[in-house]
Order: sequence, then C-alpha cells, then structure tokens
Amino acid sequence: MSTENRAAVLHGVDHLRLDERPIPTPAADEVLIAIGAVGICGSDVHYLKHGRIGPFVVEAPMVLGHESGGTVVEVGASVTSLKEGDRVAIEPGVPCRRCTFCKTGRYNLCAGVRFLATPPIDGSMAGYIVHAADFCYRLPDAVGLEEAAMLEPLSVGIHACRRGGVGVGSKVLVTGAGPIGLTSLLAARAAGADYVAVTDPVEGRLAHASRVGANATANPGSGDAVQELAQEAGGFDVSIDCSGAESAVSDAISATRSGGKVVLVGLGADRLTLPIVESATREVDLLGVFRYANTYPTALSMVASGRADVAALITDRYPLTEVQEAFDMAGAASGETIKVMVEVS
Ligand code: NAD
Ligand code: ZN
Repeated sequence: MSTENRAAVLHGVDHLRLDERPIPTPAADEVLIAIGAVGICGSDVHYLKHGRIGPFVVEAPMVLGHESGGTVVEVGASVTSLKEGDRVAIEPGVPCRRCTFCKTGRYNLCAGVRFLATPPIDGSMAGYIVHAADFCYRLPDAVGLEEAAMLEPLSVGIHACRRGGVGVGSKVLVTGAGPIGLTSLLAARAAGADYVAVTDPVEGRLAHASRVGANATANPGSGDAVQELAQEAGGFDVSIDCSGAESAVSDAISATRSGGKVVLVGLGADRLTLPIVESATREVDLLGVFRYANTYPTALSMVASGRADVAALITDRYPLTEVQEAFDMAGAASGETIKVMVEVS
C-alpha cells in the first residue's frame, strides 16, 4: 500500500490542483479504498468552471469526482460484508438512514445525504477514500474498475427507466445523447424496451447512440424530425429528457402517446415554457428524477451479464497526473467525447 494520497482538489473557479492529503482511517462501519478509476461527470466540470451548482457552493477546497471503483485495503471494526482485497463499486451518496425517505426506500430524497464531491463533502478522485461499507458493492471478476465507475451514470438511467415504467416492449424516446442519455438508452434496452430513439443536435453523439443500440436517431434541429420519429414509433410510451433543453422537453411531451410518461432527468434553466395543457389533456405524466436509489445491484447485474456495455461509453482516459487535461477534454463538449476516465492507480 502506497503511503501517498494524491487528490484532485478544486481550490476555486478554474483552479484545480493535485494535493497530498493524509490517508484517512475508516470508522467502524467504513472501509478504506484504494481508488482505481474515476469518471468525470458534468457536475465536476460545472464546479470547476463555476464554483457552484444551484444552492451548492464550493466554499473550501474540495476533492472532485463521484463515479468510482477501487480496491478495499482496510475494513472498519464492525464490517463483515467486505474484506481486504475486494474490488468494489462505490455508491457516492450515503443518506441519514433515519428519515421517512430513508425508511421508505427513497433515500435519494433524504435531506441529510452526504454525496461525494457535493460541497462540503470531498469526492473520490484521490489515492484513498473511506466510505460506508454498505454503499460499496463487491465486483465479480469479470467487471473492471472503470465499469464500476460507470455504474454511477448507469444508475441514473436505471432510475429514469423505473420512474417511467420502461419494460418489455416499451417504445422509448431519449432526448440528449450525453453520458446520461446513453446510459438511459442502455438501461431501457436492458429493461426490455424494443424500440429506443435518441435525439441530439450533435451528430457525433447520435453516431455514438447508434453504435450502442439506438434503433433510430434524429437531429432535433432539422424540421419535424422528432415528430417523424414519433410517427414511426406510433407514439412513445416513455420519453426521457437528458438534455434540460426547453425544446427537447416540449418535443418529448408532444412525441409521447396519450397516457404515457415524460421523465425529466436533464437540469437546464430553472423555468421552462412547455405545452402543459397538452400534457394535462392527454394525461402525459411529467416525472422528476433526482439521482437514484436501490440501483447499484441492478446496474452491476446488467454490466456483469453483458446486458449493458458501459465500457463502450468510455472514450478518453488520463492518468491522475494529467487531471487538468482530463477536465479540459471533458469540458470541451466534442461530439467524439462521451465519458472521460481518470486512472488513479
Ligand atoms: P451532457 O451535457 O453531456 O448531455 C446533454 C446533451 O443534450 C448534449 O449532447 C446536448 O447536445 C444535448 N441537447 C441539447 N439540446 C438538445 C435538444 N434540444 N434536444 C436533444 N438533445 C439536446 O450532459 P449529461 O452528463 O449527459 O447529463 C444530461 C443532463 O442530465 C444534464 O442536464 C445533467 O445536469 C442532468 N443530470 C441530472 C441528474 C438528476 O439526478 N436529475 C443526474 C445526472 C445528470
Ligand atoms: Zn434520510
């Protein structure tokens, strides 16, 4: 075990630095994990560029990263579920466990959740972190640490599909083909959807969607492309917006069959102008999504069984020593880049 613990620390807007941090000691119910790989999320890039997301403001240096996998190197006194040497996927949000949301299984809504790299909680882009043992999931041999990191964005897709009731035979529209749109596509396919269409104004992203299983793609900027998709599908049962764009959510409402569901994953402007009367009179339900709950075992099973090829979404890799370059690539929003992975060890 190395005695160094280098971490990618956000010190202020556009100020990212590798700092040496002390190696933490696990509490009784925690494990110490040597981090292997960490994916860069849009939220990490946003904190780096703006220092805040809505009410969450970075007021002190904070380690970035929350999509991660690693190897257990020490277990706390009361941990029986894991042992040294186990490779794990790390579910980043540890809730209070006591509130009504926690008790009823909707722990993503817990007001007391401590989520990696959401201020003031440090993230996982570091040599070592400690984490609650029951929010770490042991990997079978066939699942690598990068795939473990990808269980986090896949979890958002799974939760979105669950909220929308995607199942065998569903016809699904996904608007936005970034990492979250594409994990929603993978989750919908794995849940049994038989037709998934994806829209995005960026052609490179549509090409990626086709490569990972979209049945049809369209650029929403070209004429009535989305309505044509809807006609082809005979109306979508479920539409999942993964863009936050007003026009995409409007398209999603119109493209969804009467009685269907629109799942709002994308977070864009605070207020949108939407065809709300159409949504009401055709009983197209609008459903919110905040992260996920109870998805990691499902995500792991999807990946381990080969039903969700999350590795196909990883387009770029950098060592921790080149973390600035990794963030530059993630922030460039090129059509060719989907997920940037930082290899820590
Ligand atoms: P991203 O920026 O990489 O992807 C968004 C995609 O939407 C881009 O490819 C963009 O070209 C596309 N887009 C823009 N306008 C569009 C339009 N009119 N129609 C179709 N596509 C359009 O972001 P991401 O990391 O994939 O995340 C997607 C969204 O989900 C973001 O808004 C993010 O904040 C949000 N998010 C929400 C949750 C949650 O818990 N609700 C969790 C994770 C991410
Ligand atoms: Zn709680």
